[in-house]
Amino acid sequence: MAIILDGKALRDKILQDLKVKIDSYEVKPSLAVILVGDNPASQIYVNNKHKIAQKIGIKSEIINYPTDITEETLLNKIEELNNNSAIDAILVQLPLPEHISKDKVINSILPDKDVDGFTPYNFGKLFSGEIPTVYPCTPKGILLMLDEYNIELDGRHAVVVGRSSIVGRPLSQMLLNRNATVTVCHSHTKNLSQITKTADILISAVGKNIIKGEMLKSDCVVVDVGIFKDENGKTRGDADFETSSKIASYISPVPGGVGPMTIASLMLNTVELFKKHRLN
Ligand code: NAP
Repeated sequence: MAIILDGKALRDKILQDLKVKIDSYEVKPSLAVILVGDNPASQIYVNNKHKIAQKIGIKSEIINYPTDITEETLLNKIEELNNNSAIDAILVQLPLPEHISKDKVINSILPDKDVDGFTPYNFGKLFSGEIPTVYPCTPKGILLMLDEYNIELDGRHAVVVGRSSIVGRPLSQMLLNRNATVTVCHSHTKNLSQITKTADILISAVGKNIIKGEMLKSDCVVVDVGIFKDENGKTRGDADFETSSKIASYISPVPGGVGPMTIASLMLNTVELFKKHRLN
């Protein structure tokens, strides 16, 4: 039976350590989160981030806008936050309404305040093998979790299923920078199971139940990023836990695996930006 990669426990440990650090600072790190519209999932994510930030002493502010806000108003707000020296970190919750250009909005965030690491400057740094201001939260959380369990990456075959700009793409680069041999799969990939069968480390970020035990190599590591509700309203990950946990040596559960690590990384990134701005 696979060992569980316990993201919740590691998140708690990271947050505890961060709180002690933040308590020792005279000025506190600050995070501004922009939420446009009333997408229920986005509201839950933003409120969660806000609550956890406050709990560990980060000054967190949610800036709410209705769905019909103009792109110009949003860009003006980001400019104001960019110029406000009391703000260390800016996060724009995605998705944005269709009439607003996600790229324009993300590009307008100062790379030094880009807590998600999504601006072209930080992405460019990551993809050219340099060190970005901060690493994107979900991939960063995944690597922290693998490191916590001493899972070797160097020279091992990591298969990433999903190529989104928030998970699959940045993660593949981070794995490459750690000397893994990386294969990225997506919806056009043929014979997915033939590829997953060769993975020492399989990371799935799709949002569908596509990984079954028979697609895994014996003793591999499974990191399940996907999260969705099944037909019975139960929260599920990409991997079929019952069959996968019998083949893998390690597996991250859903919920309780990657999700908590994403939040922990956001808090770590906020503090990193704060240190860069105010402690140097
Ligand atoms: P996304 O933008 O929804 O993209 C999904 C990816 O899966 C795409 O690259 C798509 O390929 C690929 N895909 C779809 N069907 C496939 C199939 N049958 N075989 C192989 N690949 C397939 O991805 P995302 O935003 O990264 O989210 C993915 C999942 O992770 C979602 O469930 C999301 O809720 C979850 N998530 C969790 C966290 C967390 O903190 N736990 C963070 C972020 C996301 P194409 O590119 O070809 O379309």
